[in-house]
Amino acid sequence: MEVAKHKRITVWLLWLLLVPAGITLTYQYYPPQTNVHGWDIIGFLFLACLLSLIPMMINNSPVSAVQGVSLAVFLIYGLAVEMIVTQITYMFMLLALRLRRNEIHRLPLNSLLFFFVSLVSGLIYYALAAADDFGTIVSPSHLSIIIVYHLIYFTLNTILVSVIRYLLYNQKLALITRDAVWDCIAALVVLPIGIILFILYQQLGYQSILITGIPLIVLAYTMKLYNSSQAINEGLQKASEFGHQLTQRLEVKEVIHLFVVKIATILPSEQTYILDVFNQEKEIHLLRYAEWGIEKEKKIKPLVLNEGISGHVWKTKKGIIYQTRKDWEHLDTGILKETVESVLAVPVVRNSLVVGVLILTSGKKRAYEQYQLMIMDILCSYLGAAIENARHLQETKQKSERCALTNLYNFRYFESALEKEFDKLQNKEYSNLSLIILDIDRFKSINDTYGHQSGNEILTELARRLERLMANRGILARFGGEEFVILMPEVDKAEAYDFAEFIRHSIASKPFSVHSDLGEHRSKLLVSVTASIGVASALADAEDAQSLVRHADRAMYTGAKQAGRNKVAQYVG
Ligand code: GH3
Ligand code: MG
Ligand code: MG
Repeated sequence: MEVAKHKRITVWLLWLLLVPAGITLTYQYYPPQTNVHGWDIIGFLFLACLLSLIPMMINNSPVSAVQGVSLAVFLIYGLAVEMIVTQITYMFMLLALRLRRNEIHRLPLNSLLFFFVSLVSGLIYYALAAADDFGTIVSPSHLSIIIVYHLIYFTLNTILVSVIRYLLYNQKLALITRDAVWDCIAALVVLPIGIILFILYQQLGYQSILITGIPLIVLAYTMKLYNSSQAINEGLQKASEFGHQLTQRLEVKEVIHLFVVKIATILPSEQTYILDVFNQEKEIHLLRYAEWGIEKEKKIKPLVLNEGISGHVWKTKKGIIYQTRKDWEHLDTGILKETVESVLAVPVVRNSLVVGVLILTSGKKRAYEQYQLMIMDILCSYLGAAIENARHLQETKQKSERCALTNLYNFRYFESALEKEFDKLQNKEYSNLSLIILDIDRFKSINDTYGHQSGNEILTELARRLERLMANRGILARFGGEEFVILMPEVDKAEAYDFAEFIRHSIASKPFSVHSDLGEHRSKLLVSVTASIGVASALADAEDAQSLVRHADRAMYTGAKQAGRNKVAQYVG
């Protein structure tokens, strides 16, 4: 996060004003107590610098053993030397992190922070220990003062960091957080390191630095390795659970929504972009976008191959991690937020074609590790498979429910819909359920006159006309050959009759256009078509689903067909 310029200048001024003079004064008032062995101090400094580079993670908070070393330095040489060693160590650590230009203020800021922490806790230690003259052996009373000193050192550090975040980065001021509690526990972990180093130094001199330092570095390093393998395990486990979840979803829309939202719980992602490659050669466009795991609307201009980060990933077909803004700046198209530093981008590959690109971003530098790229790769292949799976299921479902010629629901679908609707009627969810059955008049002779193909055209056009007339007022299906049904919940018999009459009239009054395939050329013709329609209504005419169909069919046959066709008839019991 960017810190306002005036705040940065204030930090520098405060540092200039306080730290050099403060350290000089401290040196005068609390000069080194023991005879200073220059090389030993350099040894301590070296150890502290090394340890500052390998923070151990305890429950996700970094714990550096540096404070153990600085505690020993304080106990051996007093406040001034501790102050200087700490200052140099953190300066070294920050420089090793390679600060960006607009982050250089973190140097004086850290220096100020540790100056205060060292000074205040050191002064409290001296105030408490004033009367005592501690020897080289740590007595219980001395030990308790050391513990108090150490805890104050840590607590003050935590509080000041929180205050700095509040003042400079406008973050919430939270002093007693879970992290703070863990910091406290971490403080207790490094406490014995300091005490052991102190006591050993009294006995052995510089060798104590080696004896405690080497195992400490090995331990810190091992813990670091352990932590990262634990993180990998955890990531893989989450990824596989997520993969199973994805394949259970049926709809493509749901699959993608789940992915864009859930990914932030598996990998650090402030913004998540799913881009879709639109017809292989042309362009890639944003399909979904989420911020902090919440899906949001976002429009961007489509990118072409090799344009921007996603265009680049599309071209190379390889996942990539960018550690800082500098790494991807040359690909910037102004889509990513100003604050973004780290980017993880992975292609979604299907049949060796890139069908999409996934992008995660973070405002932190070096937010992503290689293993996370690997996890993302796995998740993307899950995503590709899940989408394909969902599409396949949707297609199969569509095929099994619909008639191939007219794309209306088929008989099978109608039967089960009828059962369901009838159940609802019997459960009194609605009071009427009407059924209309429509049969085209003399369709056989239409087929004979204009050809089977023309017959099909009429069936298709009729399907479209019925859909339009229905406007979602019920369920329309092709019942068989040239017969159609309309199931209408909440419509009584009189209404259904009127609607059937309206349909009959619409069919008879407007001829259907066909392309006759009989004769030499396929010529466009207009064909007049009529239909006979039967209506029945439950529960008035039928007490079960099957008799509703039978009765509507009977009305159609006897009341309409036999009465001369092009008629609507309702069932009379
Ligand atoms: P009616 O007025 O008594 O209903 O006479 P009709 O000729 O319509 O009745 P019938 O049941 O004897 O014939 C139905 C015809 O519908 C028979 C068949 O050739 C035709 N048919 C059924 N399905 C299709 C189809 O999918 N495409 C075409 N072109 N014709 C079909
Ligand atoms: Mg028929
Ligand atoms: Mg017919």
